[in-house]
Amino acid sequence: MSKQINVALIGNPNTGKTSVFNALTGLNQKVGNYPGITVEKKEGICKLPRGVKAHIIDLPGTYSLNASSLDENVVIELLLNKNDKDFPDIAVVVSDVENLKRNLLLFTQIKDLEIPTILVINMSDRMRYKGISLDIAYLEAKLNTKIALISTRKNKGISELKELISNYKDISSTPCMNASEIDPGYFDNLRKAFPNQLLYKLWLVITQDVNFGKTDRNEMEAISSFKTKTKSDLKRLQQKETIKRYQFINEVLKGGQTIDLKNAKDLRIQFDRILTHKVWGYVIFGIILLTIFQAIYDWSSVPMDFIDSAFASLSEWVKQIMPQGAFTNLLAEGIIPGLGGIVIFIPQIAFLFLFISVLEESGYMSRVVFLMDRIMRRFGLSGKSVVPLISGTACAIPAIMATRNIESWKERLITILVTPFTTCSARLPVYLIIISLVIPEGRFIGLSYQALTLMLLYLIGFGAAIVSAYILNKILKIKSKTFFVVEMPNYKLPMFKNVALTVLEKTKSFVFGAGKIILAISIVLWFLASYGPGEEFNNAESIVKTQYASQHLSEDEIHQKIASHKLEHSFIGITGRAIEPTIRPLGYDWKIGIAIVSSFAAREVFVGTLATIYSVGNNDEDTIKNRMASEINPILGGPLFNFASGISLLLFYAFAMQCMSTLAIVKRETNSWKWPTLQLIIMSAFAYIVALIAFQFLK
Ligand code: GDP
Ligand code: MG
Repeated sequence: MSKQINVALIGNPNTGKTSVFNALTGLNQKVGNYPGITVEKKEGICKLPRGVKAHIIDLPGTYSLNASSLDENVVIELLLNKNDKDFPDIAVVVSDVENLKRNLLLFTQIKDLEIPTILVINMSDRMRYKGISLDIAYLEAKLNTKIALISTRKNKGISELKELISNYKDISSTPCMNASEIDPGYFDNLRKAFPNQLLYKLWLVITQDVNFGKTDRNEMEAISSFKTKTKSDLKRLQQKETIKRYQFINEVLKGGQTIDLKNAKDLRIQFDRILTHKVWGYVIFGIILLTIFQAIYDWSSVPMDFIDSAFASLSEWVKQIMPQGAFTNLLAEGIIPGLGGIVIFIPQIAFLFLFISVLEESGYMSRVVFLMDRIMRRFGLSGKSVVPLISGTACAIPAIMATRNIESWKERLITILVTPFTTCSARLPVYLIIISLVIPEGRFIGLSYQALTLMLLYLIGFGAAIVSAYILNKILKIKSKTFFVVEMPNYKLPMFKNVALTVLEKTKSFVFGAGKIILAISIVLWFLASYGPGEEFNNAESIVKTQYASQHLSEDEIHQKIASHKLEHSFIGITGRAIEPTIRPLGYDWKIGIAIVSSFAAREVFVGTLATIYSVGNNDEDTIKNRMASEINPILGGPLFNFASGISLLLFYAFAMQCMSTLAIVKRETNSWKWPTLQLIIMSAFAYIVALIAFQFLK
């Protein structure tokens, strides 16, 4: 018989929780959100010796149980609520051998909640290098726990850890410290008032601002209203608690850890001096970005061309082998091009995340945060805004969620408001296809014009974000404290497994998250484009035949004329034509109009929409790109997608706020409709004006 136990991975940020999680669960993991809030929740299953199955949760990084951010709240709420279905049978505190002292603070707090706790000391591979040696038996005895000394990088100690978890019944749950030492008199009263509750839990409930599950809410509310001390007295007691804990930890480490500095050699300081240098730091960062964009371009063009033509042939093939009819058309003209519009971006999204996760894993991203803090401050942002702005290159949604660790509300709000200017992966498809149509293929000292244009668009996005932050900083009247703490983790060679799992996870969430929307909209569009009201649509065939009766058109040409007549009078054609007057000054026709309208749900729909629109009634086996290239501007003549209209479109997409999901997240994070509404109106109006100026200037 197998039994499932709950295991919670807890620890300071950057101690390797996620690496331990990956080592334990491999591919048996899923990523979701905690109910009601946007903190990421990672869980997975691990099979242990003797038929034990462990359900493992990778909790957000936290320095202590004294919560100061939403992420940290998640941890406390789980640990204080025995009724939560994820309440751990066993807590695994992951620490890093180089920062044991700081890491143990959290460990002692969790022990004091009388939860059976295992201590993982990770990064053992760094010990020799740092001259650290540990007396594990001594530490186990003093801390009253079992210790697994592991290195996820070298894959050492993982099976011992599994062994410890599977023997969860032997893990002690006695506390490290006696909570009442904090203030004996006060704690005596507490104990008398709530005799069946754990003392340290009472203390946390009183001092922390936490939500509880429905079940013991009444009791918890009674506890938190037990305020016989003032707020500032409680604060003082909390400080006293921290000091007591560090005294205990120092005592333990004095006997259990020796650091021989003579053996420690460190290149890192030299390295950091260059990477965070006032000049070289930016130069290196710039070169790294340039390399990344060039690589995204060069490496993914082959697989993308292949995918593009594969989907075109697939449509063609389906039309040949299936009987003619509405269903075949839906498949060949709606669903397959729609799917193609998703799959084609997998190579680029995967490469982008590959680079981002390598930069994060290696520890370089923290240097960028440090480096950029100097500049960001001037614009009313924090060094920590760099992470949202850079993650915004993937998607604004996680990026806006990542602002949660910015402590100052004003800086956080500004970051939330400007992040959607960063070029997200949904803009990428639009940029790529338009660039390939309107920017020539040549090279300039080895860098292609197309890649440079792409990089320029990214810079425009960042620029817009920074300039608007500057303006917001001047006009927003919000007082809030600013402070800056950033940890500089050691440089590490990125671990293949961590990088691969991130790339896989992000690509999957693009395909299934954005993909669902793209596919659904493609199908709706196909219907709207294939059916229409009234005579003009229904009698298209006879109307066109009479109209061109005198000319000698070939079968194919007639067919083409009928198809475009139908499209023009279909539901979607009517909508597109209705808005055409407003977008004509930007150089667009009604077909692009349809794509823009549908992109207000999600930008990535643009290419899929055009693919669907140009596929309807089209018989050739041809790629989306070729079809777009051969479109003619109905008024001005010449190709519809030329330099002027192309640049205008690029700029429109760079600035417009076209993403319902982002608006929803902004509403959730700012708790008001005011900010997302302003974002939508201001960004889109600005986009329109810039696109208008660009087209009028360039045409
Ligand atoms: P988390 O923030 O606690 O989830 O930590 P991660 O699992 O993301 O790891 C943080 C960093 O530590 C990454 O750069 C990892 O590559 C690195 N890391 C994880 N485990 C080890 C290890 O055993 N040895 C070394 N040297 N580095 C590690
Ligand atoms: Mg992690």
